[in-house]
Amino acid sequence: MIGGDLPQFDIRPNPRPRSAAERAEILANPGFGLHFTDHMVTIQYTEGQGWHDPTVQAYGPIQMSPATAVLHYAQEIFEGMKAYHRADGKIGLFRADENARRFQRSAERMAMAQLPEEWFLASLQALIDVDKSWVPDDEDSSLYLRPFMFANEAFLGVRPAKEFLYCVIASPAGAYFKSGPKPVSLWVSQEYTRAAPGGTGAAKCGGNYATSLRPQSEAIENGCEQVVFLDAVHRKYIDELGGMNIFFVYEAEKKIVTPELGTILAGVTRDAVLTLGRDLGYRVEERQYSFEEWKADALSGSLSETFACGTAAVLTPVGTVRDHTGEFHASGGKAGELTMKLRQTLLDIQHGKAADPYGWTSVIG
Ligand SMILES: *Cc1c(COP(=O)(O)O)cnc(C)c1O
Repeated sequence: MIGGDLPQFDIRPNPRPRSAAERAEILANPGFGLHFTDHMVTIQYTEGQGWHDPTVQAYGPIQMSPATAVLHYAQEIFEGMKAYHRADGKIGLFRADENARRFQRSAERMAMAQLPEEWFLASLQALIDVDKSWVPDDEDSSLYLRPFMFANEAFLGVRPAKEFLYCVIASPAGAYFKSGPKPVSLWVSQEYTRAAPGGTGAAKCGGNYATSLRPQSEAIENGCEQVVFLDAVHRKYIDELGGMNIFFVYEAEKKIVTPELGTILAGVTRDAVLTLGRDLGYRVEERQYSFEEWKADALSGSLSETFACGTAAVLTPVGTVRDHTGEFHASGGKAGELTMKLRQTLLDIQHGKAADPYGWTSVIG
């Protein structure tokens, strides 16, 4: 089967799904990324044959050769999105078409086969069809969907693989913040960067995360929760966090600033925030923004709020910012008003509680 037509999934129900009682126990306190639903989707790609064998099967181990390319040269990409219980009782997705297209762009950068957009969307539908009882009910929770793809050919040569395995797994996710969002503290890494021009910063690949782990531990060692990266060329401009984009709010000027695209990941949440900000009457600037500008404006009080955003945490206020020379507060000592307003607006749209003038949501179950 070559991409283009819609995939016909071979559905092999899990012979030993969790009982309703076991599932209820997990959904009562799911945490994040700890539990997985009863099924997963797999689709294979072979050069010359294209995409084939779309399957829904029991969630479980994947057997592979020790020579499998991904284990050696890290040809791997992923996506992250959430399925929500909507106010109308249905199950919805938020801008999944954007994730499908970003998955293709990541594949292109990593010299991997591109899964057609309709196949990506059909794979989410196929998994929700069998595992919809795993979508949590309460408004702070969701079913986190993790599509990913890796080089599945067994060989040790350095060239793009000719075989890939695409999978989707799903994990119920509780409220990211138990009692509302608490400001996150950031460590500004002087030693490490995350992405250089011409590198893979704009691709959602596992390799970017592997290199962010050491700086992330450095942040923890310095009493901060997350690392924020400076640009690799000048070590001067703010890029983003390990897995979240960042915004700076100037309330008096009705202005929002965020680093321009290039070496950062083009977040779907980032894009939604830019649109919502514009519609609330803010001027938005996508440009280089230096650490010095951030610090000076926070100290003078002209900067009113800083927040980070991504699918997992939605929007989270930034509190203390620390580097080797000292620290400052990036949101005037509290969760910013615009931060909380944008966060609630986004959540309401995602859960089908507010009008969706942008056509961002879709129903899949
Ligand atoms: C996934 C990701 C984000 C957030 O993107 P969303 O589409 O908003 O979830 C930001 N930065 C990095 C490095 C990421 O991998």
